[in-house]
Amino acid sequence: MSMNRVLANDGIDSLGKEMLEKAGFFVETQKAAEPELINTINQGNFNVLLVRSATKVTSTVIEACPNLKLIGRAGVGLDNIDLIAAKAHGIRVINTPAASSQSVAELVLAHLFSGVRFLQDSNYKMRSEGDTHFGALKKQYSAGTELRGKTLGIIGFGRIGQALGRMAAGMGMNVIASDPFITEATLEVEIPMTKTTVPVKVKTVPLSDILMLSDFISLHVPGKVDGKALIGDSEIAKMKPGIGIVNAARGGVVDEDALLHGIDTGKIAFVGLDVFEGEPTPRKELLKNSRISVSPHIGAATVEAQERIAVEMAAQIIDFFAA
Ligand code: NAD
Repeated sequence: MSMNRVLANDGIDSLGKEMLEKAGFFVETQKAAEPELINTINQGNFNVLLVRSATKVTSTVIEACPNLKLIGRAGVGLDNIDLIAAKAHGIRVINTPAASSQSVAELVLAHLFSGVRFLQDSNYKMRSEGDTHFGALKKQYSAGTELRGKTLGIIGFGRIGQALGRMAAGMGMNVIASDPFITEATLEVEIPMTKTTVPVKVKTVPLSDILMLSDFISLHVPGKVDGKALIGDSEIAKMKPGIGIVNAARGGVVDEDALLHGIDTGKIAFVGLDVFEGEPTPRKELLKNSRISVSPHIGAATVEAQERIAVEMAAQIIDFFAA
């Protein structure tokens, strides 16, 4: 049998690469740009294509590469892979849905912590004015708030939503959640120092309750619903004044115009965005707004998540060819 050949076009953590190599796979990590992808796959005789979010695996690629047997998405969302074309050509598509949940949830908390203490703005202003206007800046950022005791509304209570809920509950926040497909979940709040786990049962509530009762809202749904934002002007109108909103799900799940409008009117105190409608060229108004904490889609970009992703992916690939 000829050797199985893996093109990891958006890279793979070295732990996963080593696992594959030990199992007899050849692994190429040199990225092929979009116009070269088909040629690279065919000339290199690759039968496995691994991608993250950057490489687009279109029907054109799938149809032009008859040797492909397996496409792996190192991460969660499969929106950059034409699943229908893959199925029609008998290509298996695999992903690593759980590996990055904790990392994304921690980034959401980072945006929340930033927002309530204005860090997204003070980091920026301190750089240029911290030595000349220290007192004025101190005054400007003097009305921060705590997260503890506040209500966090989580929309989409799957893997990431629950990972966020666990940490928020552990921090003393009140967690409420909405999810049309989940009626209740038990968050296992871990205290490794004392080897204890505290189960916290959360029953989901209608979206309208989340909008009305939350001090902060974070979205963890798979994407837009029928091409439309889940949160727009009318949903924001129902929220508490001073709301903080975080979107680390997919760009446009919260309507970007509605966010800017809500900030302008003072209804929204702050926003955290890891994802943007216009990636990779997000709107400047979002990037420049002092009330928006921004990050360039780095939810899963931690050493730990990338290691877990690579190891899980390698194990699945090895299993696939062993079967
Ligand atoms: P998941 O499938 O475990 O959870 C999604 C949940 O949303 C499910 O429980 C589903 O029932 C629920 N849902 C679906 N439609 C809904 C609706 N209209 N209202 C409320 N809930 C709804 O997925 P996950 O692993 O938790 O990932 C969630 C999101 O995070 C995805 O959009 C994913 O692409 C995104 N993500 C972002 C990053 C990043 O880097 N920022 C990294 C990984 C995943």
